[in-house]
Parts: sequence; structure tokens; C-alpha cells
Amino acid sequence: MAEGPLLVFGPRSLTYDFGPRHPLSPRRFGPGIGLLRAVGAEPGLAPEPAADNELEWLHVADYIATVRRFSADPYGPPEAGIGPGDDPAFAGMHEAAAAVAGGSIRAIEAILRGDVDHAHHPGGGLHHAMRARASGFCIYNDAALAIARARRDGLRVLYVDLDVHHGDGVQALHYADPGVMTVSFHESGRSLLPGTGFVGELGEGVAAGTSVNVPLEPLTGPEPWLGALRALIPPLAAAFGPDVVVSQHGSDGHAWDPLAHLSLTTTAMGEAARLVDRVAHRYASGRWLATGGGGYAVYRVVPRVWALTWLAGAHREAPRMLPPSWRARWEGAAARWDDAPLPEGFEDAPNLPADRSIGQTAAEKNRRTVELVRTVTVPALLSVAEERGWWRFDGAVPESTTRTAPAAEAPPARRDKPMPTLVAPLTPAALDSLAVAPRVVSLADPALAAELLRAALRDGAVATGAVSGERLVGVALAASTPLDGVDRLVALGVAPEWRRGGLATAMLEALVEGQGRGGRALVALHTVAERDPLDPLPRPVRREVAERLLLRAFQVRPLPPDVAAADPQALLAAHLPVGLPADVAIAADGWLSRR
Ligand SMILES: [Zn+2]
Repeated sequence: MAEGPLLVFGPRSLTYDFGPRHPLSPRRFGPGIGLLRAVGAEPGLAPEPAADNELEWLHVADYIATVRRFSADPYGPPEAGIGPGDDPAFAGMHEAAAAVAGGSIRAIEAILRGDVDHAHHPGGGLHHAMRARASGFCIYNDAALAIARARRDGLRVLYVDLDVHHGDGVQALHYADPGVMTVSFHESGRSLLPGTGFVGELGEGVAAGTSVNVPLEPLTGPEPWLGALRALIPPLAAAFGPDVVVSQHGSDGHAWDPLAHLSLTTTAMGEAARLVDRVAHRYASGRWLATGGGGYAVYRVVPRVWALTWLAGAHREAPRMLPPSWRARWEGAAARWDDAPLPEGFEDAPNLPADRSIGQTAAEKNRRTVELVRTVTVPALLSVAEERGWWRFDGAVPESTTRTAPAAEAPPARRDKPMPTLVAPLTPAALDSLAVAPRVVSLADPALAAELLRAALRDGAVATGAVSGERLVGVALAASTPLDGVDRLVALGVAPEWRRGGLATAMLEALVEGQGRGGRALVALHTVAERDPLDPLPRPVRREVAERLLLRAFQVRPLPPDVAAADPQALLAAHLPVGLPADVAIAADGWLSRR
């Protein structure tokens, strides 16, 4: 195995050139690749243009023809987003953009073949390109095409976008595919292009819940930004069960970047890359393609973030100081391009953006946004597990990575098996003697589901189960909340081969009426996160099923307004025994509170 990620760079990378005054300048490659070499990275894959039939996985043929026309003759009238402005035409633009796409496609192919665990394509990450339109410096969407390549092998892909701008193109190109989860952290579309990426953009149809957006306020700063990443990336990865991770590491969120305002540091961006690396190892067998992205402080910021991203994949600490020879080589150019003085270290001091810190109101708004995104997009079983200490993302890089592939194949037929037996309550000892069947709860990995259910029961949570032979094929789980006399329904599900047989209804009835819960109230919040991760039903059908199940014994309660705005088909319902205070409400984090 190589010493670090396969580094994707070659002479073609320099041809992606909108001209000397354009912010996305190939000038970044000189200092960027120079610093990568200084930390031990050598280019190992030179991008060559992707073939038209590969671009056509996501782009329409007419658009490719238009780019080719501009490529041969850059002086035509503006068309398909190409023209004066963000995406000016230039001679050879088709070959240059197709080479960026080719770099990301070949890189993920090297990962899929098992030649390397990790690859890093700093010239890639052109995440705004749309099916038939150039946008935001991006012509062909290399990140989305790499994802499409993995999808052709039937693999599930988690895409994490850390650029300061919303990853709108990647999101749009995979919006209806439940096998791709896109997660974008960005400065809010209210203050920054492309003006999208709000919490309510959740994916469509069967893919509802696989598009996740975390719009942050200007001047967010490094620690709150990292807090948002830590609160969402691990549980979303745990629930989704990716086979490969693709991430975009635009460095334009930095405090020194001239185009945006998140006020981040290289220190935070390096830590973010290490988090993505750990998630890839824990949940995707270590398969990880990292791309670059935006970044317009091409001397002071971009090279350091490229180096820190590569070092994260090499599992190495960053050196403290930048090599003096590197600084000497680039300080003149940096001064000429008004991006000086060069810093001395790889990582910034934590107080770097201190002169422009976020206000109280905006900080509170960020906190509520992250909480809302968690409430809507993380299955209750996982968010409650984290809050109750049943599960924690340990972050350690395992020695070897073994993970059973998700059971994507058709579920076993019922054959002539007898109906499963209802077990109420399901005791820890009973659960210990059973295997948890795939897809019983909203988690792709049955081993993790079993681990969480066992921890829940040891913690005093109450469950009813459905058992067929030695397997748990259904479960309804309730956990106590900080509110006296009120439990929350944390999971309710049945393995595919036993659905539509009344098991969920029977388990829920037994849970509501069961001795184990002593007549306590039970509250359920059904959101877009509650789905079969491997073969989800269309969103309206999921809502119907939840309604049918819950409304036998539960009453609908008003949704918190922010939840209703983000996920209009969410459902809040409560089974209320006598004497429950009327002022019980669900807080945005899914827990209960007094109004
Ligand atoms: Zn790694």
C-alpha cells in the first residue's frame, strides 16, 4: 500500500484556465503541488480527458457539443452558462474540463479496484456544474461523475462537501438516487452564491432524506463549524452505510479567502479532513476520494489545505512550520498577487479570525440549524443513542477494516415459515440470543443496529420484538426522556420479508399497553430519516405507513414550526395516558420539553 493517498495531478491540470484575472487560477498549482511534494506526496495519476460517453453519465450530449464548440471557437455568443462572468469560454476548455472529470473518474476507479484506499485530486471538486449548464467556475461535474462511476458498480456513496459554497450541482445530479447521500456544509444561500442549500432540500421521492444541507451564518468560525461536522457526518454515515466516501475540500471558507465569510482556519480544515478519513475507515472500508474545490487565496491558504488534506489521508501529523525554501520560492509571487505575507505554519492559530467574530444571534441561529438538521435527517435511534451514551463515534482508525456489505440483494422469501412470535417485553437476555435481521431499523448495518439495541435495553429502554427462528425480525423501542412520565418511540420496524403482515401494529400495541412502561406517555416523531436505508419507499408512502401505524393509539400533535418547514411530511404523535400535562412539547432536538 502506498505511503499516502494517490495524488492526482499532471500537465493537463494546468490547462483549466479561465485567464489571468479569474479567481479559480491555475496559479494555485505551483505553490500547491510544491507544498504537497514538500510533505512527501508525489503525483501518481495524470488526468486525461474523460470520454464523451463517460461525461454523458450525467451531462446531456447537446451541452457537451456546446462546450466543444466554445473550446474550438471561444468567441461565440454566451450559451449554457458559458460566456462573460463566472465561466468565460477559452480555447481548449472541453479538453481541460474533461481532464478534470477524467482525473476524478480514474481516481475512484483505482479505489474501486482496490489499488489504493485513498486518492486526492486537488484540481477536482467542480461541484456547481449542472446537467446542461456551466456554473460557478465549473464546466463538467467531476465529483458527481466519480460518484456516478461508483454507482455503476452498485456501490452506495456518501458525498461530503466542505466548500464554502453549497454543493448544488452534485446534489442536483443525484437528488433522486437513494444510493447517494450528499451532505453539504456551506455559508447560507441568503448571503452567498449559489443561493441554495437550505435545510428543506432533502432529496425527492424514494431518495427523500439523502440530501442534507447545513447552511451556516457568515463569520461562523472554526469551532462551531467543526461542531456541525462532528454532529452530523458520523451519525449520517452510520445510518446510510456507504461503500465509498467522496469529499470536496474547498478552502474558500478560510478567513483570508476574498470571496466568502465563514472565517475558518486551516487548522479546522485539516481536522475536518481527518474526520472524513476516520468516517471512511469506520463506515466505508477505508474507500475515500478527496477532491479540492474553491479557494482563492492561492498562496496563503490553498497550498496548506491541499497538504493538510493529503496528510489526513496519509494518517500523518502536519509538520509545524512551512519549509523555508517553499516560502522563499513563493513569497514574491504572493506579494505580486496581493496574497501576502505567507504564514509560517501549516496550521493557523485558533484566534486567527478573532477580529471578526460572530454575533450572539447568528451563533444561536447556527446552533438551531444544526439541531434541526439532526432532528430531521438522523434516525431517532442514532441521535437518542448518542444523547444517552449507547453509541459514540470513537474516531479511532481501526487496524484492519472489515464490514459486512449491506444486504442489498432481495430479502429472503417468507416461504412457509410460521408467523414470527411476538416477544413483549424483549429482555436483554432474549436479545443476546438472537441475530438482528438486516433492515429492521433505519440503519444500513445490522451489526451496528444490534449493538445499539443491546445498549438501549441495558440502559433501561423498553422494547417489544418479533422473532422468527433465531432472528429478531421486528422491534418497537421506547426510551425514557428527561421529562417525567414521558417516553419517546425511538425505533419501529420490521425486516422486509415480514412487512405488511400486521407485526408493527402488534409490537406497537404491546409496547403502548405493556407492563414494562407503567402507563407512561409515548411520543413519536416520524421524519424523513425514518426509512429503510437500502430500499426506501417514496416519501408520501412512508408518511402514510407511519400515520396508519401510529394513529390507532396516538393523537397527532402540532409539529415544531421549524421541523414542519424543513420536512412538511413529518409527523408528531403522542399516546397520552390520563394526567399528562397539556403543555408538553417537542423541542427541536427531538427531546421533550415544557412549553
Ligand atoms: Zn485513511
